[in-house]
Parts: sequence; C-alpha cells; structure tokens
Amino acid sequence: MRLVTRDMGDAAEVNAPDARQQFRDAVLLLASLLAIGTACFFAAIWAVDWLVTRIPPETEAQVFSSVPPETLIPLKQADPSGHPAWRVWQDTLERLRIHPAVPRLDYRLALVDWDQPNAFAIPGGIIAVTSSLVQAVGEDRMAIAMILGHELGHFAHRDHLRSLGRGVVIGLLISTLLGGSDFGLLGNMAVDLVHLRYSRKQEEQADLFGARVAIDTLGQAEGFDRFLRQLAERDQLPSWAYMFSTHPDPKQRIQALETFIRNYRSE
Ligand SMILES: [Zn+2]
Repeated sequence: MRLVTRDMGDAAEVNAPDARQQFRDAVLLLASLLAIGTACFFAAIWAVDWLVTRIPPETEAQVFSSVPPETLIPLKQADPSGHPAWRVWQDTLERLRIHPAVPRLDYRLALVDWDQPNAFAIPGGIIAVTSSLVQAVGEDRMAIAMILGHELGHFAHRDHLRSLGRGVVIGLLISTLLGGSDFGLLGNMAVDLVHLRYSRKQEEQADLFGARVAIDTLGQAEGFDRFLRQLAERDQLPSWAYMFSTHPDPKQRIQALETFIRNYRSE
C-alpha cells in the first residue's frame, strides 16, 4: 500500500487563520456580552439606589400595607406573651418613633423565632426581633433603645429598601440568565432581607442615628457607657451584642459611636 502525501496547498494556509479568527471573534463577542451585562447590572443597582432614596415614606407605607408580614419575614413569627420584657420593647419603640428624624411609618414589632440574637428592618415599618435577642436583652431600656434606634436608622437612610431593590435586580438577573420566569422563587429571593448584609458604613450610620434618637428621647446618655464597655470587652461580649459585633470592623463602629456620644453630650 502506498501512502500518498497530499499537498494541502492554499487550502491549509487559508483554513488555519480562519479558525483562529473565528475563535478570536467568539472570545471578543463573549467578552463584549460580559462587559455589557456587567455594565447593565451596575447601572440597574445604581438606578435602584437612586430611586429608593426618593421614595417618600408615605408611598412605602401605602405599598407595603397590603403585603402580609409573613411574605416579608422568612422566619416563623412567635407569640410575645411568653416574654415579659416585650412591653418594654413596645413602649421604647413608641417613644423613639415620635422623634422628628424618624420617618413616618406604621412601625410595629414582630417577634420571630431564631436562635441568633438579631433585629431587622422590614419595608413598611416592621422591626423583626428574634426571640433570642429579647431573651438576652431583657428589660435593659438603653440596650433596647440602641437596637431599635439602629433599625430606625436603616429606615431613615432607606437601607432596607436598597436591599430589597438590589435583591429584585439580582433575582431578575439570575432568572434571566437561567431563562426561567419563576416569580415565586424571584419573590422569595427579593424579600429574603434577613440574609442580606449592609455595608460597614451603613451600619455605622445606623448606629449614630440610633444613639442620637435614643439620647434625645430618653433624655440621658447614662447607660451607654455600660453598653459600650460591654461591646468593647469582646471577651465578655453579651450574646445580644451579636448584631453590633459580627459585622466587619466592630471596633471602628464602637469607636465612632463612642466619639459621637461624647461630642453629643458636650454639645
Ligand atoms: Zn444594621
């Protein structure tokens, strides 16, 4: 059998660069699509951030008044009657909410079952507090005022709507990428507020807002020292301080809070 070596001639020379060109084109197309997609994503996030700061509290109240709380809180609601401290929490909220810096919303507390001490600002004015937080804080009015004031700070700075808006954008993007139109899934992702984190800056601003509202309303700053000392001594950190301590750079937040309170008292 004879092997015939064929000369591919021009064909070989033309085909090879063609394949390379096609590959280059494909990579370029993919990179362009990726760049456009990324730009669209950040533009949407920016637009949401811009929009939510312009939604008046009355509109927020109106929109969310018809939404059942259990849709917005993906945690089981608990019966507060088993917690004697609950009335102090409610009373403290009633006192803080009338501060002029607090947006006018139909605020109400919701007790939720969760073994992590934490609290959440839910659109429409719900402040969800976990049963373990209530258990740990008890009737310490200063600590309650700081916690609720902090959440009211998120309402005032529209952080909670920002999270919701971003959740919707990310949900829509994932839904588009996966080619599905499962709005149940989308809805769940959008309102899974308890698992969304705020930035350190947002947390710090909410701390300072809480301190201002708490000092103005309760007419005293005494108690904050104890509260801050407990926060600073990380070894003896009470479990309810979790919400102030687990975010990045808690020391900086505590320092900022301490400086603010010192200056506020001397004003
Ligand atoms: Zn917060």
